[in-house]
Amino acid sequence: MAILAAKDEVGFALPCPALDGAFCIAYATRPATCRTYRCELLRACDAGQIAPADALPIIARARDAAAAVLAQLPPDETITDARRRRREAAASDGAAMLIAPPGLMIALGMLDLVLDEHFRKPGERQVMPRGE
Ligand code: SF4
Repeated sequence: MAILAAKDEVGFALPCPALDGAFCIAYATRPATCRTYRCELLRACDAGQIAPADALPIIARARDAAAAVLAQLPPDETITDARRRRREAAASDGAAMLIAPPGLMIALGMLDLVLDEHFRKPGERQVMPRGE
């Protein structure tokens, strides 16, 4: 897995190269961050706030939204790249946003809405209010 470093952050490009469909091909040796990470939906399942059967359609919706983004990405671009492009456009005078493919930006927004609503902590949200 190629590790990326920028400023004081270290990570890897998404989608993760170890992800094969819905499976982690590096499951036994996955990084500690993966071992300990629990999204908000999983936490809600653990707490009995949502039944696993009710969580599955939400996961399917997120996967469909991610597939819609991936289908529109240029071959050399990742979802992380697209988010970076969206952030840069928002910080610019807006002209950069006009260059971005509108369908891609809409699909990315739909994906982040699903992730914000069900998977991310309030402080991690990308498009919904961060709840800070
Ligand atoms: S668990 Fe970690 S290593 Fe495995 S696919 Fe997911 S992000 Fe990648």
